[in-house]
Amino acid sequence: ATVDIGTIVSLCKRRGFIFPSSEIYGGLGSTWDYGPLGVELKNNVKRAWWKSIVYDRDDIEGMDGAILMNRLVWKYSGHEATFSDPLVDCRECKGRFRADKTYELDCPRHKRKVIECQSNLTEPRAFNLMFKTQVGPVEEEAALAYLRPETAQSMFVNFKNIVDSRWRKVPFGIAQIGKAFRNEIVPGNFTFRTREFEQMEIEFFCKPGTDEDWHAHWIEERHNWYLRYGLRAENLRRYVQQPDELAHYARACTDLQYRFFPDREDQEKQWDELEGIANRTDYDLSVHSKGKQEKWGIHNEHATQSLVYRDPVTNEKFIPYVIEPSAGADRATLAFLMDAYSEKPGTDGEPRVVLKLHPALAPIKVAVLPLARNKSELVEKAKAIKADLQRHGIRAVYDDTAAIGKLYARQDEIGTPFCVTVDYDTLGIGKPKEAAAAETTPSSAAALTDTVTVRDRDTWEQVRIPVARLREFFAERLTA
Ligand code: ATP
Repeated sequence: ATVDIGTIVSLCKRRGFIFPSSEIYGGLGSTWDYGPLGVELKNNVKRAWWKSIVYDRDDIEGMDGAILMNRLVWKYSGHEATFSDPLVDCRECKGRFRADKTYELDCPRHKRKVIECQSNLTEPRAFNLMFKTQVGPVEEEAALAYLRPETAQSMFVNFKNIVDSRWRKVPFGIAQIGKAFRNEIVPGNFTFRTREFEQMEIEFFCKPGTDEDWHAHWIEERHNWYLRYGLRAENLRRYVQQPDELAHYARACTDLQYRFFPDREDQEKQWDELEGIANRTDYDLSVHSKGKQEKWGIHNEHATQSLVYRDPVTNEKFIPYVIEPSAGADRATLAFLMDAYSEKPGTDGEPRVVLKLHPALAPIKVAVLPLARNKSELVEKAKAIKADLQRHGIRAVYDDTAAIGKLYARQDEIGTPFCVTVDYDTLGIGKPKEAAAAETTPSSAAALTDTVTVRDRDTWEQVRIPVARLREFFAERLTA
């Protein structure tokens, strides 16, 4: 069976992945802080995404846009008018609900399914999800700004800057990772739905007519990315949005859904969106272009330029179509945690948690442990190995605060793929006299000098490796 979110919430708190935000003041609903291990894990998720999108391909440029943007961006993108969810109030319990997602909720007062008190709900009204703020010291309409509800828009409005500065020809894409904010009516389910979250988005620009092929390409690419980094095939599926679910400008949209809620009775409701991959047609570059845009019924009086693209070879002019794979870094991190979670009986028969994260995602790659902490040569050697790995970019920790078995168990629980143990053989002095077994002859002890054991998290098997080969050994196993 797949683990439920509750088990992950408590593991995250217990082991320093994710804490409730502002906890000592009673928290702030549905806000979370990534702790020492969480920040490493989420950084690794983002790095794995960036690597596969920006480094492993030749047709994507990266950027990092500002969270605050000119308000006109949101006027012409359509967000000011339509970025809203249907809000309903329950007259009975005074609870507020998102009308299209009621199944997720329990009525906060009556502690029963909101479905049951639906007869007493008000008509839905549109609630705009954008957070408002003001720029500068003047509190007036002119100073109004929004916290961006998606990273996408800064990629659209920088389209021409990137074409011109990077000699790019369509087809090509722009990728960005960054915070987005939505005043969700009902946040919840841990980091699945929060009001501040992080997106990993691609805007891929292509010639009209090639859009369907590029859409198919990106669905395939993104699906495979999740599998490569450890999601189980049976927990990931594609959901093709029906015509009545599509945004008015979209031609098609396929969601990658993950089984975030395996404990829900209704099979269908176990699945929810991990990433949306939409064919947005020429809507975005059209609405941000100067002048009349007949097709979209918009007259842009404020933009200073047109985003029409001219093919430098054929001289053909067109407004590129956009394929948008839009992922959430927090939802992806949660999904990787859920599919990594496993339990197995320890040597004492007690169940032990082993977090089988892909080594490239694991917060800590190697724990270096001395067999005994009261022997200074062991401690020094272990610390030197840790420092050397760390200097070469392999995240390593040193730990001597418990007996070796317990140290292994701790690392298993946080997903560390390898433990290195420094013992007496490493030092070339064999076991201490009182513990020395007759089988260690002087010659075999010499052969083990400057070697360590490396223990594998998933198999619990150990191999003996020369210290000088450790870096190479790990480098091979840590890349995806
Ligand atoms: P939902 O229907 O779940 O509200 P959405 O369809 O509005 O999501 P998009 O606008 O497509 O979401 O955003 C792209 C991605 O950003 C989502 O697939 C998700 O991973 C992430 N995301 C969106 N809203 C949130 C949120 N409130 N908390 C965490 N991640 C989010």
